[in-house]
Amino acid sequence: MSNPLLDLIGQDSLPDFDAVRPEHAEPALDRVLADNRAELEQRLQRHENHTWDSIVAPLEAMTDRLERIWAPISHLNAVMNSPAWREAYNACLPKLSDYHTELGQNEALFRAFRQVRESQAFASLEPAQQKLIDDNLRDFRLSGVNLPAGQKARFKTLSQRLSQLSTRFEENLLDATQAWSKHITDERRLQGLPASAREQAAHKAGAKGLDGWLLTLDLPSYMAAMQHAADRSLRRELYEAFVTRASEVGPDAGRFDNGPVMEEILALRHEMAQLLGYADYAEVSLATKMADSPQRVLGFLEDLVGRTRPQGERELAELRRFARERDGVDTLEAWDVGYYSERLKEHRYQLSEEELRPYFPAPRVLDGLFEVAHRLYGLTIRAVRDARVWHPDVRAFAIWDRDGEPRGRFYLDLYARENKRGGAWMADCVSRHRRPQGLQRPVAFITTNFAPPVGDEPALLRHDDVLTLFHEFGHALHHLLTRVDYPGVAGISGVPWDAVELPSQFMENWCWEREALDLFAAHYRTAEPLPQPLFERLKAGRNYHAAMAMLRQLEFSLFDFRLHRDYDPARGGRVQETLDAVRREVAVVQPPAFNRFANSFAHIFAGGYAAGYYSYKWAEVLSADAFSAFEQAGIFDAATGERFLSTILEQGGSRDAMELFKAFRGREPSIDALLRQSGLAA
Ligand code: ZN
Repeated sequence: MSNPLLDLIGQDSLPDFDAVRPEHAEPALDRVLADNRAELEQRLQRHENHTWDSIVAPLEAMTDRLERIWAPISHLNAVMNSPAWREAYNACLPKLSDYHTELGQNEALFRAFRQVRESQAFASLEPAQQKLIDDNLRDFRLSGVNLPAGQKARFKTLSQRLSQLSTRFEENLLDATQAWSKHITDERRLQGLPASAREQAAHKAGAKGLDGWLLTLDLPSYMAAMQHAADRSLRRELYEAFVTRASEVGPDAGRFDNGPVMEEILALRHEMAQLLGYADYAEVSLATKMADSPQRVLGFLEDLVGRTRPQGERELAELRRFARERDGVDTLEAWDVGYYSERLKEHRYQLSEEELRPYFPAPRVLDGLFEVAHRLYGLTIRAVRDARVWHPDVRAFAIWDRDGEPRGRFYLDLYARENKRGGAWMADCVSRHRRPQGLQRPVAFITTNFAPPVGDEPALLRHDDVLTLFHEFGHALHHLLTRVDYPGVAGISGVPWDAVELPSQFMENWCWEREALDLFAAHYRTAEPLPQPLFERLKAGRNYHAAMAMLRQLEFSLFDFRLHRDYDPARGGRVQETLDAVRREVAVVQPPAFNRFANSFAHIFAGGYAAGYYSYKWAEVLSADAFSAFEQAGIFDAATGERFLSTILEQGGSRDAMELFKAFRGREPSIDALLRQSGLAA
C-alpha cells in the first residue's frame, strides 16, 4: 500500500495533506519505529568507540524521520478531529510513548553518548554539537538511566505513580467542574450577562431538558458571570463553588478531593529529586531552565512583588471607592473584584471590541505582519500556490531572506471551525537538518481560532486576535529562521521553557505602536487609518490593573516554587499553609478562608509547570527588555533587528539562553523594561 506519510522521509517536500488519511497513521508509525529500533540496535552493537558520526548524527536522523511522519499526524488530529482521526491518533500514542521511554532508559545508548562526550574529538565539535550532546546526557540522567539497579527500580515506580497521580488530579478537577451547576429560571438574575453568555446558558439548560438557564463552572461560563452578572449573591455562590473544586470544603466537599493527591505528588517528587542527587524538586526543574539557581528565581519574584505591591494597593483602593460610589458596596469581596474591575474599565476607557474590529481586517493584518518582518529582518514572505492543504481556509507561505535565500515555509490556519482544537499555537512540521543529501529546511504550523469571515466581508479581528497572531508568528520565526543544522538544538528545540516565550511575547509589542499599526490598521471599507483617540484609549487600557494582574501571577509563581523548594518529609506538603503565607506577602485582595486554589492548580500538579510557573514572568522580563532595545533605537531599527535575528532567532537552542540574551542586549536581563511597559515604574 502506498503511504503519503512514508513518502515524506528523505524528501524536502511539503506533505500532501490532501492525500493523508487516518488509516495511513499507524502503519507509517509502525514502520518508522521498527526501522529506528533496528538501526539503533545495530549501531550500538557494532561500535566499540562511539563518535558523532556513529551514534549522535544517526540518532538525530532517526528522530527527524519520526518527526516527518508524526508532525502531520498530530496536527491533523488537532485540526481535523474526526472520530477516525482520533482513533488513529490514540492507537499511535502508547507506541510512541513506549519508544520514548525505551530511548530514555537505554543504558547502551547513554554509554555511547558518554563515550563521545569523553573522547578527544569532542573538543573539535562545533558548540551546537557539544550542546546537543550535553543536553542529551542531562536528559538521560534526569530519566534515572545511570542509577544503581535498586534505585533505578524505585525511580521507575515513582515515575509511573506520578503519572497516575497527575491523571487523577486532572480527573478529579474535571469531575468537580462538571458536577456542579446553577439552574436559573428567573431571567432577572442574569442581569448584566452578555447575550452570547445567556445563549450558551440557555443552550446548556436545553441540553439537559430544563427550562431557563444553566450556569456552569467551565471557564468561559464562569468568567462571563464573574465579570458581568450584577447579582452579587449569584456571584458569591458561583465563586464558592469554583474555588472549592476538588477539595474538602464547599458544595461538593470531599467528593473529588485532590488534597491527598497533592500530598503524595509532593512527597514522590521530593523522593525522586533526592534519588537523582538534588536537594529538592525545584532544583530538578531548574536543571533544564535558564534561571540558574533557586535563589535567583526567588529573588527575582520577591523583587517584583516589592516593586508592584504599592501600585496594586492603589488600584484596589480605587476599585473599592468606585464600587462604594456606584453601588454602595461597603466591603469589596473576592467575588466582587472581577465585576467592578470590568465596570470601572468600561467607565474609564469606553473601549469596545466592536468599535476596533473594522480596523483589523485579516488580510490587511497579515500583510502588515509580513511588512513588520520585512523591516525588522529583511524577510520577503509570499504565498506558496501549489501547496496541498487540509482545509480550503488554510494557506502556505514561504520566507526568503535579504540575500534571496529560502529559509522556511509555514502553514496558516486562522479560523475556528468544527472539529478543530481551540486556542492558538505554533507547532513544528519539519526541522532544519543538514543531511548528506542536502539541507532540509524548516516548516511550521501556525494555528489560531479567529471568528471566520461572514459573506463577502473579510474576517474582522479583535485587537487581542492581532496580538495572538503576532505572538504565534514570533514562535514560528524562531523555528524557521534558525541557522542551526542539528534538529535537537535547532529553532525552538533545546530552548529552555523559561526562555521559549521570548521571541513570541516580543513580537506582540509591535501591535501597540502607532508606527507599526499604521502599516495595517485601517477601516476595511473606507481605508481610514485607526483614529488617534481610539488608539489612545486602546493604549491606555493596556495597563489597566496591571499591578493586580502581576501580583496574581507572582502569587502563583511563588507558591509553586516554595512548595517544591521547602518540602520537608517530616512535615508533609503544607499546601494551604504555604499558600496562606505567600498570600499574606503578595496578594492585595485576601481571599476568604474557604478558598482552595491549590486543589485546582493543574499547571503544577497535572501539567509540566512544577517549580516552573515562574517561567511566564521570567520570559516576560526577557521579551520586554529585548523590546526596550528597539524603543531606544527605533522600533524598525535595522541594525537592532539584525542583531536580534543573529543572536536569538538564528541560534535556537544551540547555546546557553543567558549567553544568547547577553549577546543581544550586552548585559543580563533587567526587570526595568517590564515595569515601565506595564506602567509600574516608580
Ligand atoms: Zn507562546
